[in-house]
Parts: sequence; structure tokens; C-alpha cells
Amino acid sequence: MFNPTMEAMSRDERRALQSERLKQVVRREYDNVAVYRARMDAKGIKPEDVRGVEDLKFLPFTEKTDLRDQYPYGLLAAPLSEIVRIQGSSGTTGKPIVSGYTQGDIDVWTELMARTLSAAGAGPNDIVQVAYGYGLFTGGLGAHQGASRIGATVIPMSSGNTHRQIMMIKDLGTTILCCTPSYALYLGESIREAGLTPKDLKLRAGCFGAEPWTEGMRTRIEELMDIDALDIYGLTEICGPGVSFECLEKKGMHVNEDHIIPEIIDPATEQPLPPGAAGELVFTTITKQGMPMLRYRTHDICKLDDSPCACGRTLIRMGRITGRTDDMLIIRGVNVFPSQIESVLVGLEGVAPHYLLVVDRVNSQDVLEVQVEMTEDMFSDTVGNIQSLGARIHDRIRSIVGVSAKVKLVPPRSIPRSEGKAKRVIDNRKL
Ligand code: ADP
Ligand code: ZN
Repeated sequence: MFNPTMEAMSRDERRALQSERLKQVVRREYDNVAVYRARMDAKGIKPEDVRGVEDLKFLPFTEKTDLRDQYPYGLLAAPLSEIVRIQGSSGTTGKPIVSGYTQGDIDVWTELMARTLSAAGAGPNDIVQVAYGYGLFTGGLGAHQGASRIGATVIPMSSGNTHRQIMMIKDLGTTILCCTPSYALYLGESIREAGLTPKDLKLRAGCFGAEPWTEGMRTRIEELMDIDALDIYGLTEICGPGVSFECLEKKGMHVNEDHIIPEIIDPATEQPLPPGAAGELVFTTITKQGMPMLRYRTHDICKLDDSPCACGRTLIRMGRITGRTDDMLIIRGVNVFPSQIESVLVGLEGVAPHYLLVVDRVNSQDVLEVQVEMTEDMFSDTVGNIQSLGARIHDRIRSIVGVSAKVKLVPPRSIPRSEGKAKRVIDNRKL
């Protein structure tokens, strides 16, 4: 364990610590963030009414739309002079979701990723290859910081360029791999196709997350590379990767509860559910200074498990994410909402507001096809003009949504109409 005091402390002691920290963060939000103050006032709650974790359920929720509405700095609880980093991910429309971190926030995040890597057995003698993307996306820098913190040797590859990734794994003797599970699967298959076997490599374990995956994928990745494949979870709004991590027992992800309190709620009634019940995951950050979050609704569906873990950690575990309560898709690690694609299409000459997103998995990688109906006029236009319209839509989706999609312009009225809620997405990925 990277921090045995915190990871294995008694549950009673931890609850007392959480209560203390919760009171402080509520006070901080109330004093510094107008939206939180207004919401608490509306509910008739003052910071001093919150005496501990038992009062969490009275606090207002936070939604992704709040981050969009307050974009970029409206939710900061610290002056901009104390913010040392901005990270972000795609939001529900064209604008990204951004979060500001103080140096203290970066230090906590770094420790949480150090715990994550340590749980995979990593230490100073390891060579950690980071194949998550670097940039606004939290994956690359998060894994990088954590690996540095445990004193490992870091190879900051970023995502893509499979040939070079494999060369580095082999030549540099990479022992720990960090990337999305779909990319891990692709890398594993490519390693085999290159005629290499696990005996040619020193890989021992991998920390894979940022998108949903399954036990079946775990087995396959483990076989291909002869490694322990571990699930890790996080989101930009909370701190990025490091929110929770699997230990080598592989029985769910330990939530770093001394910094983040998880709840499971019934998404319809918004009432908390007990451990073991499936529902929507909600997080409260209790040590974050830059942009703390009270009861942030992730829209991810899972269960909490408070049974003891053989590893000795007393941190509660969350199961695999089994679905979402909204329509967010994750395409090659990028969050994509159908509404973003729609915002690209509306107002574009030559297309009708009828579209369909078809997602597939080809060679372990996500492929997004956007089918768009042409107007009658466009349909009878020249092939060249139709092609250039397709190229324009492709470029706009790439720059606004951040994914490369195959655009297929289809004849007028060819996309099935529905009488109720339009079906915008066909997801053929067999997860
Ligand atoms: P990340 O850097 O983790 O991708 P984002 O903020 O871009 O952060 O996306 C967060 C979302 O990614 C989560 O709400 C969840 O839907 C998904 N996600 C992250 N990690 C996992 C995981 N291990 N399993 C399933 N989904 C995950
Ligand atoms: Zn454990």
C-alpha cells in the first residue's frame, strides 16, 4: 500500500475524518461559490447544520450542466491566483467541461494515482508506460504524476502509434502499462501479430480505465500479454483517474474515501441506496480546494461493496460500471453526447435534422459512423458537392466533439422515424 495509514484505517476513524472534512468543504463552498450558496439557502441549510457524513443527504446535487453553465470559472472556490492547472473533458455540447486545481489538489491527485499504481504492485523498480492521451484529458498526466510519485521510470508515450508503443515496451522493458482497456486489447493483439509472446516482454500489470469494459475483456487482455489487468476509474470533475482503483484481488475498485465520499442513489427518487444496491454513483470531494464538488451526479451505474477485502484495505469498493442513466457514449476514451453531434449538424446547409450514430468495435477499436440525411436539393446535387459536404461535417465533428467519425450522407427520409423518443444511437459494440 502506498499510504497504509489512510488505506487501511478503521472505518469508524475514517468516518470521523470524513465528517470533519465534509464540514470544511461545505463551509468553503458556501462562502466562495455563489451557486452553492444559493442552492443551500433555497433548501434552508446553513454550513453549521452539516454535522457530519450523516447530513450529506440534505445537501444539493451538482450536475454536469452546472459545470457548463458556470464555465469556465464560476465554480472555483479558490482565487485564480491559486489555480495551477486546468484539465478538461468534453461536455454535453460544444464547450468542454473544465476543472481548476490548486497545487494541493494536484498533490492529492498525484497521491491517489500513486496508490492506484502501488495496488498494481508497482514501485521504484518499475518502468511505467503511459499510453493514455496527454493534454486536457486527465488520463495521461494523472498516470504520469502517480508513476513519478512512486519513483518509477516513466515513459510518457501518450496514446496512439501502436508500432512505436510495442517497440518501447520491448526495448525499454516496460513492466506496467497504463491505457484504455480497448487500447490494451488492441496492443495485446498487435504484439501477438508482430510475432512476440509475453516471454519476449517484461510486462507484469496494467491499469486500465476511462471507459467501460468487462470480465471477458480482462481475461483476453491478461492472456494476450500475461499480465494482471486492473480496472481504474475517475472523472475530470472529481480529480481524473485515481478516484478508485482495483487491487490484485480484482474484486472491485477501492474508492479513496478519505478524499472522496461515494453514494449510490436511486436516479428517479434521488434517495440514497444501501451498499449492494445498483444505482447512480454520486461523489463529494472533501479535500479539493480549487473546484470542490458536492454530491456530483456521475450518471454512471454501479454498486458499492463494503465487505472486507483480502488486501487489507478498508476502503469501500465499487463494482464495474454497468451502464449510464443518460445517453453519453465513450468513443476511444472521449465522452460523446448525441446532442453534441446534433449541434454540429443543425444550421448546416444541405442536411436535414435526422441523424443516427452507429458505433462498432473493429479490431478492438471503437468506430463511430454518423449517418445524416441530405435535403432533396443536396441529394440531386453533384457527387463532388456531396463528398465535400461529408468532409466538412467530418472536420466539424472532429474539432467540436473531438472524435474522428465516418460520415455517411444518406437519401432523404431513409433514417427510420419514431413516434416516441427518437432513436439516435445504435451501439453494436459487444462489451
Ligand atoms: P476519464 O479521464 O476517466 O475518461 P472523463 O471525465 O473524460 O474522465 O470521463 C469520465 C467518465 O468515463 C466516467 O463518468 C465514466 O463514465 C467513464 N469511466 C472512467 N473510468 C471508467 C471505468 N474504469 N469503467 C467504466 N467507465 C469509466
Ligand atoms: Zn483490495
